[in-house]
Amino acid sequence: MSGRFNITNACSEKEDLAPVAAAKINEITAQLSTLPDSKPAFDPVDRIKTGFAKFKSEKYSANPALYEELSKGQSPKLMVFACSDSRVCPSHVLDFQPGEAFVVRNVANMVPPFDKVKYAGVGSAIEYAVLHLKVEQIVVIGHSRCGGIKGLMSFPDEGPHTTDFIEDWVKVGLPAKSKVKAESGSASIDDQCVTCEKEAVNVSLANLLTYPFVRNGLLNKTLGLKGAHYDFVNGTFELWGLDFGLSSPA
Ligand SMILES: [Zn+2]
Repeated sequence: MSGRFNITNACSEKEDLAPVAAAKINEITAQLSTLPDSKPAFDPVDRIKTGFAKFKSEKYSANPALYEELSKGQSPKLMVFACSDSRVCPSHVLDFQPGEAFVVRNVANMVPPFDKVKYAGVGSAIEYAVLHLKVEQIVVIGHSRCGGIKGLMSFPDEGPHTTDFIEDWVKVGLPAKSKVKAESGSASIDDQCVTCEKEAVNVSLANLLTYPFVRNGLLNKTLGLKGAHYDFVNGTFELWGLDFGLSSPA
């Protein structure tokens, strides 16, 4: 199926369209139809079949011991939060093999605060990873050119939302936005976004402390938290820890 927009149909419903304009549109449409499609239509079924066949022959069938082991269960040491952005798949960027990382991906790699009603999806993933899989580290990875962070920095803080979900979701990072505006408000918007990409990771790390099982893991030293930023413009990966000054109650 061609993805080309049909100008003729779209305009024919406008009864007041001047005849001259209609003739011009017919002419342009005729010209467009003689142009070869610049690229072949994308076939999702073919892409998925081809991708799995390649994985099956090059990875699955080549590592029977690994997949035999994984069939018994998983015991990843890492839980990873990464953005849904198609350019930042953590398994690619950090070369994770199957079974190595329990991954949550969402818009702008946010960890919202503990809330059983609003954020059950993220909460259940953290609960499962910490209490059942007993991961040893949670890593939150931000990234360059993040559309979610750009949205956070651009959306007005007050007033009605223009999106059903996005504004409400990225506002998890509002404390980061406030910090960046206060400390780097005179920087270019691009520089502010880079700073916010990293500060939003710190907000997520702080939010992780609102989950009792995460807090206990930190106090018992069975769990650690790390922040990270993957920059695909410069090809760099930054990793850091935060000292929350946690101490066990006496
Ligand atoms: Zn992103």
